[in-house]
Amino acid sequence: MTAYDKPLPKIDTLTRPFWELAKDEKLAVQLCNDCGDRHFPASPVCPKCLSKDQGWEVVSGRGTLFSWVTFHRAYWNGFAKDLPYDVCLIELDEGPFFVSNLVDAGGEAAVGARVEVVFEPITDEITLPKFKLAT
Ligand SMILES: [Zn+2]
Repeated sequence: MTAYDKPLPKIDTLTRPFWELAKDEKLAVQLCNDCGDRHFPASPVCPKCLSKDQGWEVVSGRGTLFSWVTFHRAYWNGFAKDLPYDVCLIELDEGPFFVSNLVDAGGEAAVGARVEVVFEPITDEITLPKFKLAT
């Protein structure tokens, strides 16, 4: 196995629950324990009511393709072997938007397409949630 040569997220106390759940192949968003707002990425306070009482909620992993772009140029050497690859904006069924990779779309991507999460283990700590067209 070759070393992973793409940028990796840095885990901190704010984001650790997300990455721990991702290792178990569960997609989670932050949930405000005061007003119930669901949001992502993680924030120390609720973007809606500014409460510091924030938890995490496992979501369905299903959503809708809001937009995407196909990269034909590698801005990091580690991505060169993946060209062309898709970066997508997903509207999760639970509301928050999520930026990720759209994998195995085979040219079939379309705005409004249903998608579902898939998980790609990278390191002992990092499992990346990505999305594929729902079957
Ligand atoms: Zn709130």
